[in-house]
Formats: sequence, structure tokens, C-alpha cells
Amino acid sequence: MTNERPGEGPGRVGQVKEITSLSNPIIKDIKALSLKKARDETRTFMAEGLKLVIDALALGWTIRTLVYSKEAKGKPQVDDIAARTVARGGLVLEVSAKVIGAITRRDNPQMVVGIFEQRLTKLDSLRPKQGETHVALDRVRDPGNLGTIIRTADAAGASGVILIGETTDPFSLETVRATMGSVFAVPVIRASQADFLAWRRKADVSIVATHLSGAVDYRTIDYSKKPVVLLMGNEQQGLPDELAQAADALARIPQAGRADSLNLAIATGVMLFEARRHLLSLEARG
Ligand code: SAM
Repeated sequence: MTNERPGEGPGRVGQVKEITSLSNPIIKDIKALSLKKARDETRTFMAEGLKLVIDALALGWTIRTLVYSKEAKGKPQVDDIAARTVARGGLVLEVSAKVIGAITRRDNPQMVVGIFEQRLTKLDSLRPKQGETHVALDRVRDPGNLGTIIRTADAAGASGVILIGETTDPFSLETVRATMGSVFAVPVIRASQADFLAWRRKADVSIVATHLSGAVDYRTIDYSKKPVVLLMGNEQQGLPDELAQAADALARIPQAGRADSLNLAIATGVMLFEARRHLLSLEARG
């Protein structure tokens, strides 16, 4: 990796370049973003697709580099985001289909890719308001689960996703793909278990933890008394005692059949939409 970040460095910013070679150093730097080390060092990540890039710019995310394939040139929306990228000091790369396929590691790649600055919300500054629901995920490991949960949180009107402990990277290509763009709409917060527990002691929130041996049926919980944090356990190990003990309620989703548990993303979706249903029904009643 060169010292320059994708979209930064002498002679790189605010310009349009045509690249056809896979060995071009800028392309090598962008390809390296498939590795967490490179994402951490540059504090950037990659998002694929024209709609995602348009949405991200509309939501105020900072674009470092816009990559589009030659076939997309001349499309009004592509020309528009290219002009906006240059105006914001970013780099625009017009590349061959082979190059964009190598960047995204896909046979049928999207025609547009954006490299954005990462953005995380600080736990210290998080003050949930009445009627808001957050999701907190303990050591989530699977990028597909995390992406699906961020997407579902967006669709359920949740206010943010808190990642507790060592989790999969919210900015990996696989997670970002699974969010279908919601990574740009839902604030993501990272915290150690100790920091989360310290925050929980100060914040005026109700922690509803989900547990296979939870004492409370999830449909009987009042999700409206305080801002709610839905606390979900790790895919393999479930919730550790330290987190379960910090909860106001341990909720169980009653199951039928032989499955011993629900998939984490499914369980999170069930909880999010139950909390939403509850809050909306109260609103409707006035
Ligand atoms: N073997 C793990 C265990 O013993 O907890 C299974 C974990 S499950 C795949 C991942 C998480 O989804 C759980 O920690 C819990 O937060 C949630 N979950 C899954 N099924 C659930 C259910 N029926 N009731 C409540 N939470 C559930």
C-alpha cells in the first residue's frame, strides 16, 4: 500500500483519471480495502452501486474516490456524482470493466463504486430519546448477519446499532453489501463491554436483552416506558452473564419445532418490529 489514501495525495485530488491497468498503484490501494488492515489505516471503505453512492452523498458522507466503468460514462446521474466528487476534492476514476470487476471481486460488477470515509458515532454522545429503539449486538461475528441487522434496523425506524466487544467490521465489503445502503442511514456505535455497561448505568434507558431462557415473553414487554435498547447475544455463545445481568428484562421469543434458536438477524428483526408495533399502537391510541 502506498502512503497516500485513496482519493488523497499530491496530484490526486479533484481530478478525473482514466485507468485500464490492474497494476496501477491507485487501483492496488482500492483493492486493498478488501482487507481490514487497509480499511483501518485509511479509515475508508467501499460501497458498490449508483443508488448507494447517490444516497450516501445526499446523506452527507464524504467521498474520497468515485470509480465508474467506461460503459457508465455519459449517464446523467453518473456525470452528476462525478462532478460532485470533484467539487468536494475527491478523485474520479474512469476504468475498464476488468478493473471494476477486480476491485469488487465480482464477475458482474456494479458500474459504480464509491470509496467513503468511515463514520462511527461515539457512545459517550449517545443520549437515546423517548420513543427511540437501539439495537446492541454482543460480539456479532457474521458480516451477513450484521449487514442484515443494520438494514432491518433502518426499515424498523431504529435509531442506531451498538457493537459491543470484538465484532465483525461494519465497513467490510460483505457487511456493506448486506446493508443494501442502510449503513449510510443508521448510526453505528462501537464499544467495549465495560464501556457499554458504564454507559448503561448513566443512560436513562430500558435494556431488553434476548435470551433463550428468558423469563418474559417478548410480546408482553412495554417498549414505551423509556428509550429501549434491544440487547442481542453472540451467534454461538449467546449473551454472557455480565450483559444479561445488566438488563431490565430477559425476553424470550417462544418457538415451535425442533430448532433450538433463531438466527441472530431474524431474532433481531422480530424484536425490532415488535417494539415498533407496540410504539405505533400507542401512538394510534393517542
Ligand atoms: N447457542 C446460542 C445460545 O445458547 O444462546 C444461540 C444464540 S442465537 C443463534 C443468537 C442470539 O439470538 C441469542 O443470543 C439471542 O439474543 C437471540 N435469539 C435467538 N433465538 C431466540 C429466542 N427464541 N428468544 C430470544 N432470543 C433469541
